[in-house]
Amino acid sequence: MNREARIQHPARVDFDAPYRLSIDGKLVETTDSFEVYNPATGEVVAHAPSADREQLDAAVAAAKAAQPAWAALPQERRAKYIGDYADALDAHKDEIITLLTTEQGKPRHSMATTEVDYAIYWVREVAKRSLDEEVIEETDDHVVKVAHTPLGVVGAITPWNFPILLGLWKIAPCLVTGNTMVMKPSPYTPLGTLRFGEIAQQVLPPGVLNIVSGGNEQGRWLTEHPDIAKISFTGSTATGRKVMASSAGNLKRLTLELGGNDPAVLLPDTDYKPLIPTLFDAAYGNSGQWCIAIKRLYVHESQHADFVRDFVEYAATKRAGNGMDPDTDLGPIQNSMQFEKLKSLFADVRQQGYKVPLGGTIDESQTGNFVPVTVVDDPPDDSRIVREEPFGPILPILAYREVDEVVERANDTDFGLAASVWGPDRDAAIDVANRLEAGTVWVNEIHIHGIDIPFGGHKQSGMGVENGREGLAEFTNTKTLMFHK
Ligand code: NAD
Repeated sequence: MNREARIQHPARVDFDAPYRLSIDGKLVETTDSFEVYNPATGEVVAHAPSADREQLDAAVAAAKAAQPAWAALPQERRAKYIGDYADALDAHKDEIITLLTTEQGKPRHSMATTEVDYAIYWVREVAKRSLDEEVIEETDDHVVKVAHTPLGVVGAITPWNFPILLGLWKIAPCLVTGNTMVMKPSPYTPLGTLRFGEIAQQVLPPGVLNIVSGGNEQGRWLTEHPDIAKISFTGSTATGRKVMASSAGNLKRLTLELGGNDPAVLLPDTDYKPLIPTLFDAAYGNSGQWCIAIKRLYVHESQHADFVRDFVEYAATKRAGNGMDPDTDLGPIQNSMQFEKLKSLFADVRQQGYKVPLGGTIDESQTGNFVPVTVVDDPPDDSRIVREEPFGPILPILAYREVDEVVERANDTDFGLAASVWGPDRDAAIDVANRLEAGTVWVNEIHIHGIDIPFGGHKQSGMGVENGREGLAEFTNTKTLMFHK
């Protein structure tokens, strides 16, 4: 069947079949494999292939061989391929959503569906974007033009909290700007990525998108690889540092989307009651396993006690459970490493004797990595729960007295991913937003993203941005061309 026919009638991908790597347009088996668990049940869902060094090198070689022809295609042809990819993903949407809930844990009927829908929309829309050449200076005898040329092969490394969205966020801008890619998903959630890689092989030319799964080692191999021009990484700040160090050999370009400890500041006299559901979702959505989750909530001392009471009353109605159950509000913690981290944080909260008006005790006799919705009332600023990124359904609600003081406390962190300010006087809130050290600050709204809106962290929350024109530009070299007329 030729390519056009394949796109019109994409072969059904068998979601029950064994998982394989995608290298140079082919599905490739491996000698080694690793187990992938359902975090709600502890059961093994599948065995994922573990790429060996030769296979990873073959994936990079395939991406390198495919890149010149891919970059040489007219922009509209690349856009068409990527649009076709969005259609092919759409045809498999239901299976991808179920797989996401099964390996990641997030509720199928809410967060998993939103993630997959949004990811497909993103691919479709980014396909339409391009960076056109600009004439930045022109005189009677001289012209200066700035163009954007592809970098070559991009290595992409993704985390386990939003594996479908964050993966496709990297693929679409990378390919549309004429690069090819080798992607390595988190070993905790490789399955959805392997399947969307498999789907890509039906519509994209061989070698344009290659997927290699494995452990952390495979990530390191990518960052060291001399034929990779850029690493697009999303994960923790600790791993981001390692990625930066090991990318130095050939001076790889880097986009690092790292951790956060996002503050939300409720200014005095905020009519907070109608905001509680939004604030709850922004802190506890995806069971708190979200880089831009609200991780510290500051409420003026005049409202703090009432706010805690009302927030707890609302939060107590939320139910954690298996994401396949439509009554579940919050899924489990995705993996045992993160579950252990949370157990240690919960033990610290207990040992220090902080006030815990909701939750606080992890029932370890339960099947699955479940952690109760927990609120910590006004712990000290130097407590672990305030200083660290918990990545779980636990939130400190802190009291403050002065606006200057809360700005200082909100900024007293090495992180700077995002923040939000809420208040009755929009200009006063914008003034506070301007003083917060974060890549994105929302005022009286939260978690809005867009194809044309750059997103990235300040301080140790990252380097560079994804999305928007700036995000596209990070997949390119800036090339200045000058000529005498
Ligand atoms: P992680 O850093 O442990 O792992 C991320 C990826 O890096 C995985 O694929 C892992 O296998 C790989 N990896 C591990 N060691 C490596 C090494 N030495 N070299 C190369 N790759 C290596 O992060 P995680 O636990 O999967 O994800 C959670 C973290 O991600 C949180 O800190 C969260 O805030 C952050 N995050 C940030 C954003 C953002 O956009 N800023 C989005 C989502 C998650």
